[in-house]
Amino acid sequence: MGVIALTSCSEAVKQDAEQPWIVDRFDDIKVIRYEVPGFENLTLEEKQLVYYLAEAAKCGRDILFDQNFKYNLAIRRTLETIYTGSTVREGDEFVAFEKYLKKVWFANGIHHHYSNDKFKPEFSEAWFREQLAKYINDDNRQMDNDLLCKILFDKELYASRLNQKEGVDVITESAGNYYEGVNQEEVEAFYNGMAAADANNPEPISYGLNSKLVKGEDGKIYEQVWKIGGMYSPALEKIVYWLEKAATVANPTQKEVIEALIKYYKSGDLKDFDAYNVLWVKDTASNVDFVNGFIENYGDPLGRKSSWESVVNFRDVEACKRTEIMAANAQWFEDNAPINPAYRKEEVKGVSAKVITVAMLGGDCFPATAIGINLPNADWIRKEHGSKSVTIDNITYAYAKAAEGNGFNEEFILRAEDRERAKLYGKLGDDLHTDLHECLGHGSGQLAPGTKGDELRTYSSTLEEARADLFALYYLGDEKLVEIGLIPSLDVAWSQYSDYIMNGYMTQLSRIELGKDVEESHMRNRKLIAEWCYEKGKKDNVIEWVKQDGKSYIVVNDFDALRKLFGELLKEVQRIKSTGDYEAGRKLVEDYAVKIDYDLHKEVLERYAKLNLEPYSGFVNPDYELVEKDGEIVDVKIVYKSDFTEQMLHYSTEWSFLPSIN
Ligand code: ZN
Repeated sequence: MGVIALTSCSEAVKQDAEQPWIVDRFDDIKVIRYEVPGFENLTLEEKQLVYYLAEAAKCGRDILFDQNFKYNLAIRRTLETIYTGSTVREGDEFVAFEKYLKKVWFANGIHHHYSNDKFKPEFSEAWFREQLAKYINDDNRQMDNDLLCKILFDKELYASRLNQKEGVDVITESAGNYYEGVNQEEVEAFYNGMAAADANNPEPISYGLNSKLVKGEDGKIYEQVWKIGGMYSPALEKIVYWLEKAATVANPTQKEVIEALIKYYKSGDLKDFDAYNVLWVKDTASNVDFVNGFIENYGDPLGRKSSWESVVNFRDVEACKRTEIMAANAQWFEDNAPINPAYRKEEVKGVSAKVITVAMLGGDCFPATAIGINLPNADWIRKEHGSKSVTIDNITYAYAKAAEGNGFNEEFILRAEDRERAKLYGKLGDDLHTDLHECLGHGSGQLAPGTKGDELRTYSSTLEEARADLFALYYLGDEKLVEIGLIPSLDVAWSQYSDYIMNGYMTQLSRIELGKDVEESHMRNRKLIAEWCYEKGKKDNVIEWVKQDGKSYIVVNDFDALRKLFGELLKEVQRIKSTGDYEAGRKLVEDYAVKIDYDLHKEVLERYAKLNLEPYSGFVNPDYELVEKDGEIVDVKIVYKSDFTEQMLHYSTEWSFLPSIN
């Protein structure tokens, strides 16, 4: 629920020396560096807090690798041993091998971070076996060579990390490491039982969130809990070590928050996690803030298990004025939402929105990251205590810088006036879309009495993202935004509308292999919205396909009508969520969000390829160094890094605490 991925078209670049923001490019990926403006102005305590939390953020990297696939750590370590040991560092096979390893680092495993498909090595098995023979011995062997080769080279084996195709057993067909030895029916029975016993609890537990579900040799199904003394203990111990340090320099409120998190890591009790979240969401005053834990459930086909992630950040005071205006008007937005009044929140609580500067990314927020976060995810906490919503300005800034002069708009936007609007208002439109999505969209609305919130099953993420996006899109085109000073004119909204439809229907397809379906929930959501609006507006020519010089362009002709369509779809998606109408939700997603028009897809990929643009981006982190004098810490220095490989190897050496198989 809580993250937003980049929606704008400004996410790719042309390779040239004028691009100091890009530090590496391989396959469909470019790696960007980000800056941390304002770090120098933090107090010494705040700088130390950032340092300790940043250390904690790096300690969970192995957890994510293991969650993504049970052999990921063994494979990564084997590849790194070959890579660092290899004396011959050239030739097609080695170059292909290096590219493969970079992809594994970037995806935190052998499956693509976005499509979830297993990578295909472009080096031969024969060459790889030679390397194994040369560099892997009894002392550094992590796993059986034959099994390793089978996993890497057999296309069918563990083909997808997250398979949500209709009609398949999403548990046994997904390679993610959240379940073992159990099938979908068993998993659903296991957790439905728990949920039923908890049915009347006003503070329902997020069952299953912090554990792997396995079937023992005795046939019994049980949870392996991720906690100190449980699964992933060696990494969690390090995280807690740094959190304890952080508590010594935190203010009293934040100290309590950090101690609650430590308590939860030690107990593994999800009630402790909720208690921590309640404290965390209430702390809106601290300048430095962080996310650290098992947070988002996108990696679990049933949306229950959460991957480990961390973000360390501090407030961007200037940019915060934007979200403060939004939060101050939160009730107005809720009261005027184009949905059934029964599904509106009577009283919007604790909308806290801010713009932040990221200081460190870790776990599932690294190297690819979100540009907005809205937490916590538990519905009852959001309802009772509110949620914290952030947009990350230094990351969007880095994206924009890395995209300058990339030729994208010239290739895909047909009309000069649309290109001009994109140039003038594109970044502001993107930023406000993110703010509205995170700050108000996810937090809006309420469930009908009797609806539990898990009825939509595998379709819940897509529909929830659609709900938040539609809320943002609808209000972006409201005169109210001009009135309260958030936008100079509705041109900002129209620029975002054109971009959203083009991206959802067309350009985001550049991220998908020809012939494949859309799987990822943010992408599904955008496609759903774009295609639904196209269909419904067809008779009035609201959105139009234009063919020119053999190229397809999609243009919005009537922005006001499109806004009405956003409102209509929001009403329907809110109804589906509020009533838990699984069948209607399933139909919306399957009809509009999954299947891709083959010819259009092919054309997009060809045009994209000509521009030499990578569809995905991620980041290298800066390093932080303590400056000591006479045994006292007197400052913390920030050191910017510009070598992806070096950072990955550094992390694998210094911040790697788990055994290869957990
Ligand atoms: Zn979202």
